[in-house]
Amino acid sequence: MIEKRDFYINGQWVSPTKPNDFNVINPSTEDPCAVISLGDQADTDAAVAAAKAAFTDWAFVDKSEKVALLKRLLEVYNDRAEDMAQAMSLEMGAPISMARSSQTGAGSWHLEGFIDAFSTMSFERDFTATEKTLLEPIGVCGLITPWNWPMNQVMLKVVPAIAVGCTTILKPSEIAPLSSHLFAEFIDQAGFPAGVFNLVNGDGPGVGSQLSAHKDVDMISFTGSSRAGKLISKSAADTLKRVSLELGGKGANIIFADAGPDAVKRGAAHCFRNTGQSCNAPTRMLVESSFYDDAVEIASQVARDTHVGPASDEGKHIGPVVSEAQFDKIQGLIEIGISEGRLTAGGLGRPDGLNRGYFVKPTVIADVTNDVTIAREEVFGPVLSILKFDTVDEAIAIANDTDYGLTNYVQTPDDEKRVYVARRLRSGMVETNGKGFAKGSPFGGYKQSGNGREGGTYGLEEFLEVKAVSGWPA
Ligand code: NAD
Repeated sequence: MIEKRDFYINGQWVSPTKPNDFNVINPSTEDPCAVISLGDQADTDAAVAAAKAAFTDWAFVDKSEKVALLKRLLEVYNDRAEDMAQAMSLEMGAPISMARSSQTGAGSWHLEGFIDAFSTMSFERDFTATEKTLLEPIGVCGLITPWNWPMNQVMLKVVPAIAVGCTTILKPSEIAPLSSHLFAEFIDQAGFPAGVFNLVNGDGPGVGSQLSAHKDVDMISFTGSSRAGKLISKSAADTLKRVSLELGGKGANIIFADAGPDAVKRGAAHCFRNTGQSCNAPTRMLVESSFYDDAVEIASQVARDTHVGPASDEGKHIGPVVSEAQFDKIQGLIEIGISEGRLTAGGLGRPDGLNRGYFVKPTVIADVTNDVTIAREEVFGPVLSILKFDTVDEAIAIANDTDYGLTNYVQTPDDEKRVYVARRLRSGMVETNGKGFAKGSPFGGYKQSGNGREGGTYGLEEFLEVKAVSGWPA
């Protein structure tokens, strides 16, 4: 059993003020694999005090010194990539090959994107000949992250915050804390000054709420469920701190008849990727009526061909979902979905041959209308709904008829139609024809998918205040 009870506060590994053990469960076996501590108010206070004390100096450290430290962090991260992949695979069930490539790769990808953007960004602007606009770090930042893409989220918050001169307290998901523990080791190894980065483990009602309500925390950056985002916003309200939110999604994937079978295959595979546990998953496939029956059959075949297995197995497959709570929630939604549409692949229960572990069958439910539960709620499992449309404007209306607005997708070789649709979709991102986004591209949502942007220059700007100074020497 791995033991990671300590917190990283003020450049030291310290014991929790009160013992409060919490087991981390391996989702492939349902057995405990590690023990951490859940922090108490005194631990949160100590971490916030360390970050506050460190801010005075760190805010004024030269950009060149910060870039050198970030580059050192990248070296350490790459040197210890295998440790990171193993930690994420164990804690949240990503198949080890996928943990090595996408999960660990997402961390270095964002770190590199921030180093590029920060190196070239200007933090002083001439407003007039004698007036300056200064972009300054907001201060002490509480960073609260989820379990589904652990290093992706940690890098998207910690790196821009410390790059621009903020100091930080990270509270990772208590369900998947091992990767963040390792990340704190990397920060230590890279040589960041004490107090710039602090790590306190804990749950939402505990350390999460303590950070959100803390009078000495200037900003919370949160990624997770819309439910928790609302609670955090409420608990942050009394101190009027800035709250940046990256929340859930219910992405539409609009497939026109001229897009062809590959677009359907790609869309279904994307929905099942990371076992459906991605906020930007294209979970509502909207298909033009003339191509609908073929698309249902193609997507269902992708589901049947998607192999499910333990995270430690090598090769291409999807792993379990993260926890018993998620497994139960997903089973409940599949049951509802079956009553609302037509089940064409997968369904209730574990895949054949898997009797233990939180494994879910890749599932397709066709003939779904946009007003039912399976089309409206974020499932966060390998479950695809398929809907039919007749006209371009009907597809846009269905796609936009959701509380969420994170990522939508459009598939057609017709340039004019693709751009027309992309402009009208109410979401922070529109991915078309399977073309991925560039390094440093802004990631975030409209509506109840959140209010922040992460990655590159936009991600750095989240952590800045704007100061106007008159009478600046000419
Ligand atoms: P969650 O909201 O339950 O937990 C996320 C984090 O918030 C955890 O660290 C948790 O301990 C903490 N938390 C929970 N309640 C809290 C509270 N009241 N106060 C403070 N902190 C609290 O979400 P999850 O189940 O870990 O993650 C899945 C969700 O995250 C999905 O809805 C998914 O769409 C979303 N997500 C969004 C993005 C994005 O960028 N938009 C990225 C990844 C995941």
